[in-house]
Amino acid sequence: MTWEERWHPLREEWVVIAAHRQDRPWSGETLGSPAVSIPEYVPDCYLCPGNARVSGKTNPNYEQVFVFDNDHPSVALDAPLNVAPIARPYLSRPATGISRVVCYSPLHNITLAELGNPEIENLLQTWQQQYEELGSRREIEHVLIFENKGEAVGVSNPHPHCQIYANNFVFKTIENEAKTSEQYFADHRRVLFQDIILAEQTDGRRIIAENDSAIAFLPYFARYAYEVFVAPKETHPSVGALSSREIGDLASVLRSVLIKFDNLWRMPFPYVMPLHQAPTDGKDHGTFHFHIEFHPPLRKPNLLKYLAGPEIGGGNFLSDTSPEEKAAELQALSDVHYTQEAKS
Ligand SMILES: [Zn+2]
Ligand SMILES: [Zn+2]
Repeated sequence: MTWEERWHPLREEWVVIAAHRQDRPWSGETLGSPAVSIPEYVPDCYLCPGNARVSGKTNPNYEQVFVFDNDHPSVALDAPLNVAPIARPYLSRPATGISRVVCYSPLHNITLAELGNPEIENLLQTWQQQYEELGSRREIEHVLIFENKGEAVGVSNPHPHCQIYANNFVFKTIENEAKTSEQYFADHRRVLFQDIILAEQTDGRRIIAENDSAIAFLPYFARYAYEVFVAPKETHPSVGALSSREIGDLASVLRSVLIKFDNLWRMPFPYVMPLHQAPTDGKDHGTFHFHIEFHPPLRKPNLLKYLAGPEIGGGNFLSDTSPEEKAAELQALSDVHYTQEAKS
């Protein structure tokens, strides 16, 4: 039983862990059961090779990763520049930026978890190129790469893909992490994320996967039941700065986490997966340690973690599960994807 408050050093806020409550009866909403078999190619999918998109453009017959400018961007370089003036305390400005979509595979019915190591490495290299290219533009202050996966987070098209928002501002969570990392370095002459990795290695109970240069763990201060961080062990401000050896190691640790997630309930595991990378605002971010975060919305196969009073109303998370117990569940799972068990 875990019943305590834990400090989240990157966010500088308390997380209430109230795992003694997890067996309370539930009579709320459940999600539909996972899908029937999905074909490799779907004629009206806007991400499948050779198909037309709403913009009128046609996807090439791509064979690996395919990147294109989002046809429904929320920020764009051609967003209206003449924004209506507004009086104080309100403020507005043009929604300047670049939005892109990255298809992981031409196959409509595959997930990131089912890709091989070389394909995941190839995707990481694409993220490197995108971060470097977009981040080097003067009008771009930050590059947010993220995948929303599953109907539980509002994605109805299963075609494996992620999105890139390259914005004229730094997203709040990143701004916060950059600030806390700088302050921690000023106070301790140590990189905060290095100390988080060290604390996880010293404790050992929450490590999900590890090799020479990369590590994955369910952090001590997890806000979601199956929240997992994946990171290189060396401090790099972005994925762009990783060596090819580090990319290989990161791909393998990332893949192992993804497979365990799918194996947990033998279904495609929904999540929001942001890459947390330093701003590209021209300032020094030497203490920012690039990492990937998984924020899975489910606590059980059909049970969503609802964000309610404490989270939305108050701004702090209340978790009904013990990070140590949830980490042990993931550790116990196989590194072979359940759909490939028969083949291996
Ligand atoms: Zn498709
Ligand atoms: Zn982070």
